[in-house]
Amino acid sequence: MNIVIFGPPGAGKGTQSDFIVSKYNLFQLSTGDMLRQEIKNQSEIGLRIEKIINAGNLVSDETVSKLVENIISNKKFESRIIFDGYPRNLHQAKALDELLIKYKQKIDLALNLRTKLETIKKRISGRFSCSKCGKIYNKFFNPPLKIEKCCTENSLVQRNDDNVDIAIKRFKTYEKQTEPVLDYYRKKKLLKEVNGESSIDKTNKEISDIIDLIEG
Ligand code: AMP
Repeated sequence: MNIVIFGPPGAGKGTQSDFIVSKYNLFQLSTGDMLRQEIKNQSEIGLRIEKIINAGNLVSDETVSKLVENIISNKKFESRIIFDGYPRNLHQAKALDELLIKYKQKIDLALNLRTKLETIKKRISGRFSCSKCGKIYNKFFNPPLKIEKCCTENSLVQRNDDNVDIAIKRFKTYEKQTEPVLDYYRKKKLLKEVNGESSIDKTNKEISDIIDLIEG
């Protein structure tokens, strides 16, 4: 099955995607992670997009589409992708449908992690990730996550766009550009709402119940 997961920045899309990936053996396609990797590699794309990302704006649809097609076209990931951070606007949602038709696939479920701006501000300012394994931690998680061996004080970093001012900007970009995409999936009867304010475990459970129903 292919899933798209929505929610404003800091709603827990990455954390919940990790859980879904390991429980249902899916592949996580995070356009944010892919773009950050381009910046890290100082690739031609990376050099072009760094300022855009750090200002909380969206990268061009063409740039993102190319990265996404590389994964969708790969037989290894056929019909087992969770799209995290994509599609981000209506144009991308339509482009995704066209790509899926081209590679004879479809979206089976769209999840929306509903989360308020006040929660987002707090979560984003407390978010860290390990530069070696990518695991995401948050000083406000209760209970705190188990710390992996490779995650040391030196390897834990905060994203450049994870500060309160840019978080507000990203939230507004989300409301304006991404919320209309929810309607797109609602009309197709694929959208399920999940409470993004609960604990990680409760949200895991809510999501599993939805997926298990679909998988039958
Ligand atoms: P994320 O990790 O999903 O929060 O994404 C971080 C940043 O990467 C966003 O604020 C955008 O600047 C950029 N980005 C990620 N995904 C997309 C996308 N689908 N379309 C355009 N820009 C994106």
